[in-house]
Amino acid sequence: MMKTIIEPFKIKTVEPIRFTTVDERTSILQDAGYNPFMIRADDVLIDLLTDSGTSAMSAEQWAGIMQGDESYAGARSFFRFEKVAKELTGFTYIIPTHQGRAAEKILLTLLGGPGKCFPNNTHFDTTRANIEFSGAEAFDLLNPAGKDPSAIADFKGNMDVEALDRFIREKGPSNVPLVMLTVTNNAGGGQPVSMLNIRQTKEVAAKYGIPLFLDACRFAENAFFIKKREPGYRDKSVKEIVQEMFSYADGCTMSAKKDALVNMGGFLGLNDDTLAVNARNILIVTEGFPTYGGLAGRDLEAMAQGLTEALDEHYLTYRLRSVEYLGEKLTQAGVPILQPPGGHAIYLDAKRFAPHIPPQQFPGQSIVCELYRLGGIRSVEIGSVMFGKSDKLTGKFIAPALELVRLAIPRRVYTQSHIDYVIECVIEVYNNRASLRGFKIVLEAALLRHFTARFGVLQE
Ligand SMILES: *Cc1c(COP(=O)(O)O)cnc(C)c1O
Repeated sequence: MMKTIIEPFKIKTVEPIRFTTVDERTSILQDAGYNPFMIRADDVLIDLLTDSGTSAMSAEQWAGIMQGDESYAGARSFFRFEKVAKELTGFTYIIPTHQGRAAEKILLTLLGGPGKCFPNNTHFDTTRANIEFSGAEAFDLLNPAGKDPSAIADFKGNMDVEALDRFIREKGPSNVPLVMLTVTNNAGGGQPVSMLNIRQTKEVAAKYGIPLFLDACRFAENAFFIKKREPGYRDKSVKEIVQEMFSYADGCTMSAKKDALVNMGGFLGLNDDTLAVNARNILIVTEGFPTYGGLAGRDLEAMAQGLTEALDEHYLTYRLRSVEYLGEKLTQAGVPILQPPGGHAIYLDAKRFAPHIPPQQFPGQSIVCELYRLGGIRSVEIGSVMFGKSDKLTGKFIAPALELVRLAIPRRVYTQSHIDYVIECVIEVYNNRASLRGFKIVLEAALLRHFTARFGVLQE
């Protein structure tokens, strides 16, 4: 008999949740300009804003915190971290940074600039912002199934390799400093990328002498999807699969706040000698000495331990199942979600959830606000607020392909009853969807506007 998949841990420390009423949350929302990033965490009941940096650390990781070597140069903790990261990735150089975007910033300072073009299956927002900040352009070449929120396929995060080949020929190989592949595809719905696709992407890039970099934040979740879904991988260990994934890449950027199960950290992995020298020079100016990056020795210890724990198959079984469970129950209730469930989050399909709100009135933002008002649940819009643009010439609004609301599940933080409560709230918002109203932006920043924008509710 199939038994319930249980949380593979006991709880040693607890953190109380502060309860608020619907009335209190109505005024909190107003004060926050209807932007969940502006709500105080103490006013949130269940925080599904992000899975980034929100993991619960293990007893072993906390033990590592006490053992951190805080020497400025050559700290023991660095060498432990470097050994673990090298064993997993195979890269010659492991450069610690304080988080993923710091690794991106260094890489793109060196390789970006006006006229350069960066393809990816789907750029994450900070990656795109770092590319554009350098003066270069970012392009998403997602496979067609990945663009259809209701299509069920095993590897909807895949790169469209034929489009990639055409793209490189069109732009000219010398204008494409690297090809990036994001595993799993965060902005594209937490969908995995197959080993075959990684290999094929590498082949296309290599044909033109262009290096392949993984945006490797969720490498372990991606590897477990490969194990479960891709022919030939069932009997391989997750570690072997991870090693094979990285073997096709020439480098990586990594936010350790995801699959390394820490609250802060990241690294840049490189094979190229010159690039590594230049990257370390920038690191020293912007982050710190190469054996600590922007981190304390204790952070490096926790990261080394977390990178190891993320490969545990009991952990990964529980991790993917708890996300799938949320998706399954919502689907059974008729709530439109991006199918199939991704590795770290469930994405509500806001276009079908609130079809009466057009993209330029931010249907996803409307759902986000109602989930908070009704249930104290914090989620995030990934649609026209995050990626919508105005045409440079005509000023016309350009909507992204998908309008999503992400319910990201922090690692090892919430139990099944928390998830059951989320399910009840989402279903209630869905059943009352006719009352959802559109929004307008009343204040926005030039870059990454979703973090700080203020909204107003549109009246009929
Ligand atoms: C989180 C994330 C980043 C950026 O990492 P930070 O640690 O938040 O700076 C880059 N790419 C992807 C796919 C991510 O999920």
